[in-house]
Amino acid sequence: MALSDFPRHALTFGPSPVHPLPRLTAHLGGAAIWAKREDCNAGLAYGGNKTRKLEYIVPDALAQGADTLVSIGGFQSNHTRQVAAVAASLGLKAVLVQEHWVDWPDPLNDRVGNIMLSRIMGAEVRLDPAGFGIGFKESWNRAIEDVTARGGRPYPIPAGASDHRLGGLGFANWAYEVERQERELGVFFDTIVVCTVTGSTQAGMIAGFAALEEAGGRPRRVIGIDASATLDETRDQVARIARATADLIGVARPLRDDEIVVLPGWAGDRYGVPVESTLDAIRLTGRLEGVILDTVYEGKSMAGLIDLVTSGDIPPDATVLYAHLGGQPALNAYSGLFTH
Ligand code: PLP
Repeated sequence: MALSDFPRHALTFGPSPVHPLPRLTAHLGGAAIWAKREDCNAGLAYGGNKTRKLEYIVPDALAQGADTLVSIGGFQSNHTRQVAAVAASLGLKAVLVQEHWVDWPDPLNDRVGNIMLSRIMGAEVRLDPAGFGIGFKESWNRAIEDVTARGGRPYPIPAGASDHRLGGLGFANWAYEVERQERELGVFFDTIVVCTVTGSTQAGMIAGFAALEEAGGRPRRVIGIDASATLDETRDQVARIARATADLIGVARPLRDDEIVVLPGWAGDRYGVPVESTLDAIRLTGRLEGVILDTVYEGKSMAGLIDLVTSGDIPPDATVLYAHLGGQPALNAYSGLFTH
C-alpha cells in the first residue's frame, strides 16, 4: 500500500506555510533556518500537529459510525483541544480526560488556554488527578465505557493521536508536502528539527522521508528534540511508530536505528515545566521574528535547534526546516513567567 491509498478527511487549510527566519539565521550565524507552520495550519481552534494526524483518523471514526471522540491529555493538552474542535466541526461529541500531567502552580492551569477552548467547543471535560504518562490509562477506559453505557458509540483516540494504527500517516503526508514545497521554492531542507513527546509526529516524518528516499530522493536528518523528559520510552515509541508507519505506506527496506534520532538536553527534568533555555528560546524567537513558541513543546525544540546550530553540530552549510507544531494556547497558564 501507499500513503495515497489511505482515505484523508481534509481538516487543514491546505499546505501549511513555509518561510525563512532570516533574523534568527543571521543572529546565530550558522545554518539557514526556515519554519513550516503547523501552528496556523487550520481554522479549527488554531490547528496544530494533531489536526494533521486526525485527517487520517477521522475517516476510520466515521466509517465505524462513531458519534463520540474520546481522548486524553494533560490539563493544557493541545491534542484534546484539537479533538474537541474536530468533533465540533463534524457534529460529533467529544469526551476528554484531562490529567494532572504537569505539576504547575498557576491557579488558572485548569481554566485558561486549551482547556477553556475545549469547554467553549462543547466537549465534556473530565479532570483527573493522574500524572504524566504517554501510555494507556484506566481513566480513559472508564470514559470509553461510560459513553457506551449511555448508548453512544465511542471512538478512542490515544494521547497525542500517536499509539494508533493510523497515527503516523498525517506526518508522512507532511513529508510529501515538504517535498512539493521544496520544488516550488527551489530549496532543499537537509535537516528537520521537530519536538517529540508522544512520538507520531516525528515517526510519521521519518517514514514519509524514507518513502521519498526510496523513490530516489536525497537523504536528510530528522532530529527529534525530546520534551517528555522520559527519553527511553519516547524514543522506543518513535521507533515503533516509525517502523509500523513505514510498513503501512509500503517502504520496502527496514528503517535503520540511526534514522531514529531523539536528543535529550532541553526538556529539563519534567514534562511541561520550562527551563532557562526554553524561556531564552521563546524570547529570542519572539523578539527576532515575531514568532510565538510555547513553554511545553516548541520552546524546548527551538532551544535544541539554537544549540545545535551554534555548536556547528548542524553545520553552517545546512538548510534547516523547523517544524512549528503549534501549542501557543497553553502560554496562558504560564503568564507568571512573562511579566516584563
Ligand atoms: N508540539 C506541540 C505544540 C504539541 O502539542 C505536541 C504534542 O504532544 C508536540 C509538539 C509533540 O508531538 P508528538 O506528541 O507527536 O511527539
